[in-house]
This record gives sequence, C-alpha cells and structure tokens, in this order.
Amino acid sequence: MKSYKTTVLTLALFTILSVTAYFTFNAFGFEEQNITEASQKYSQVRIFAANDNDFKRLSDAGLHIDHANSKLGHFLDAWLSEYEIDLLRKSGVGYEILVDDWMTYYNAQPKMTNAEMNDQMIQTYVKDNITHSIYGSMGGYMTYNEVVAKLDSLRMWYPQFISEKFSVGTTYENRQMWCVRVTNGPNAPTGRPEVLMHALIHAREPESMETQFYYMFWLFENYNSDPIARYILNNREIYWIPVFNADGYVHNQTTNPTGGGMWRANKHLTSPPSLTCGPVDPNRNFGTYQFWNSPNGGSSTDACSGGQGTYRGTLPFSELETQNIKAFVNSRNFKTAFSAHTYGNFLIKPWCWQDPVGTPDDAIFNIFLNDMKAINGYTAGFPSQTVGYEVRGGTDDWYYNDSGHTKIFSITPETGTSFWPAQNQIIPLAQGMLHANQYITLVAGPYVNYLSSAFNQPTYTPGSSGSFKVRFQNKGVMTANNTKIILTPANANVTIPTQ
Ligand SMILES: [Zn+2]
Repeated sequence: MKSYKTTVLTLALFTILSVTAYFTFNAFGFEEQNITEASQKYSQVRIFAANDNDFKRLSDAGLHIDHANSKLGHFLDAWLSEYEIDLLRKSGVGYEILVDDWMTYYNAQPKMTNAEMNDQMIQTYVKDNITHSIYGSMGGYMTYNEVVAKLDSLRMWYPQFISEKFSVGTTYENRQMWCVRVTNGPNAPTGRPEVLMHALIHAREPESMETQFYYMFWLFENYNSDPIARYILNNREIYWIPVFNADGYVHNQTTNPTGGGMWRANKHLTSPPSLTCGPVDPNRNFGTYQFWNSPNGGSSTDACSGGQGTYRGTLPFSELETQNIKAFVNSRNFKTAFSAHTYGNFLIKPWCWQDPVGTPDDAIFNIFLNDMKAINGYTAGFPSQTVGYEVRGGTDDWYYNDSGHTKIFSITPETGTSFWPAQNQIIPLAQGMLHANQYITLVAGPYVNYLSSAFNQPTYTPGSSGSFKVRFQNKGVMTANNTKIILTPANANVTIPTQ
C-alpha cells in the first residue's frame, strides 16, 4: 500500500517498568392503481439467478432488486410486491415463493413482553453500560416523531456532547431532515476530523436508525468509563441524520402503525397524485452523471415502479432529499461515512457503478472491511459480492469522489435478516454494529492500531533477556503524529528497558 508505514518496536526484556516512545505514522495518503401500500401484498421469493445473463433478463424485464439474502451463483431471496413478481414472471428467470404474505409473516413474529424487554435492558447495561432505551412504539421501533423527541431528550441529557438538532433541508411533504453534531463541546464546529452517519434513506429499514441510537447512547454513557468513547468524543465530530427519508418513513408508520410497512422510496408524487408514479429511491439518485447512468443497470428508469421500487429519478440529484444532502456534504469536510441500511449482514464498499472494479483506495477499504467483519461476522465486498445485484447512483460512489468535496471513505452496512426484524432482535443487531460504528469514526482521523506481536523465543529462564516485537499501523485516513505507546509488564518478574 502506498505511503503506508508499519512501525516495528523492538525491545529487550530487562530493567525498567515501562517505556514511552514517540513515533510518526504516515496517513493512508490513507405503480396508476390508486392502491394503498397497506393493501399491497409482498412475498418472499427465491430467484434462481445464477449468472450475468440471468441478471440481464431481470433487468430487461424492469426488475431491479434491492436488498436480498443471496447464495451467489445460485439464487437470491428477496421480498417482492405483486407488481414485481409479475415482472419476474415475464423475465423467464426461475423462482419460487418462500413466504406468501409479508404482513401475515410479520404479524406472527414474536412480540416481547414487558419482562422480556426489561431483561434485555439489564443485559444491555451489563454488556455495554447503556441504561437508555432504544425501543419505540412501532413494533418496537421508534416512529419519526419518537426519533425527533429523542434527539431533543439527548440534547437535554447530554448538552456537552450533542448539539441542538438543526435541519439540512425540507422534504416533499415539508418535513425537516434533522441532523445533530456529536462531539465534546458540540455547539459549534471544532475542526476535529468529521464523520457523516445517516440511516433510513430507505423507509422500510428502521433497524439502521436503531443501530445508530445505540451507538450514541454508548458514547454518551461511557465517556467517563471507556477510553475509546472518551477519545471519540474528544477527537472526532460526528454529523448524524437518523432519518434521511422522513416522508417515506412516516408513510410506513401511517399505513402500518405496528410496523412492517414496505414503502422504501421518497414521496415525490407526480400530478395527479399517484402512489405508483413518481417516488424515487434516494439511494439511486446520487451523481455523478457517470455513476447514476452506469451501464450496469443498477436502478430502475420506470417512473411508475412504485414506492418499493428503485426508480432513479429524472437526473442525478433531481430530488429534494438528495439535493439537501449534496449541499450539506459539500459544506463540510467529511473523512468517513456510514450510509446505514438493512438487511443481509453485509458491509459494502465502492465502486458500485463499475462493480467489481475497486476505487484507487481499494486496499484501504479492504482493511476497514476486514477489521469490521472480524468483529461482527458480516460478509464484505462490492454489491455483487454481497447483496448479489448491481447498484448505481448510490451514496458511496459520490461520497468517495466528487469535485465538490474532499474524498470520503464511505461504506454501506446492511444489518439483520429482514426489513423489520423481530422486536427481540432490535438490541442484539444494534450491538452487532457497535464496533463498526466506533471503527468508522476512529479511522476518520489518525488511528494507530495494534497489528501483531511476537517474542523471539517461546520461553525464558530467570535472568535471561530477549526481544519482543510489536507492530502498529496507522489505519486512519489522517497522519498520526507523536503517537505515544506505553508498554507495561504484567508482573514484577519482567522488566522493560527504556530505549
Ligand atoms: Zn436500503
């Protein structure tokens, strides 16, 4: 990897109790039916698409899948509307229905009793020292209003760490896209390395938002007890938009107040208003034009593909929500980003528009993905290697490369095994993303991380000496200066010299 330095610390085992060393690390250089969605039926379908030709047939039929569990080269399982199943039938690609009716399936998912919720809160306290609840009233998930109220509560409880909410712009139905600044001393920008985090760009993916609330509570409640939480709040500046697609999310809570709504797009409706024609998938509406219009076919060009579809819009950034984010991102200096989604337990890197060609920083993305998946066990790679379909016009390509802003290392995590995981999965899934959320924040600045260590022989006799090699690497995207490394012997029988 270019300009990527690994430092090896060699120490003899003798006389003094600790050694402090200072190093400099280089940075990485680093559809018109007038039907309501409530009556729209969705089924889980296994699609036997095994090769590029099969995917081309799907694409030619106008079916652009989003979010699937897949066995690459064999099949992928996706939740499809009746309209989409009709497209699938026309494509000629083989399929079978796994679950006939989503809402029957969703309503049969186990609900938690109050006692079970209390048990999980206790476990959350024991495991991560978090006492606040991330539960809401919509099948366990927070509604849009509950999210907004929680942001206000967070500001009241932790004014030293989180700003008043501010809007980065309004939506088609005149809602605010609320954002908060999270850092120690949050009332104005601090100059610290900046991180962008957002969730619910797809309206049926509320767990993405819950994972981020869990992370914020972890930061705030552990500032005094955990050195990583303290380091992050003192040395990073997070900009967090928990509900990117507010209109779509409110649509789901209106049609399905106990959860399970399957609307995914925004609410840009054509005139006369139709729930089928006009809605755009914000995560297919990003530029550049080259990315948005990639020949990979990773979005729909059918303006009547419906609220569950992947319609890309008329032009890159044709939508209010993406225009708002574009202006906001271009006004800041973000180094890393998480565009959080559900589902599949994937970590996805760019490029998406020319998948599977990597960016010039593919080696760095691989380090990030490998470190994250080592903890949460997710599958990592390009869209074709994870979700199993092509994507164009998504957030990550534009965040990574556009003349309007500096390079942002942006990754898409896909959490869980369905759009609306059972209530008892909300917290465990959020816990599974805690490390990755910490990690994407840490690597936005200098982040010198342990790589490996080795003694020069397996055992030592009393009085003997030897060497101990410890390897560190700056995995962050900024240069690390004056890094302090302290080695402390585990007991009095070992001494360490000063060098
Ligand atoms: Zn999504």
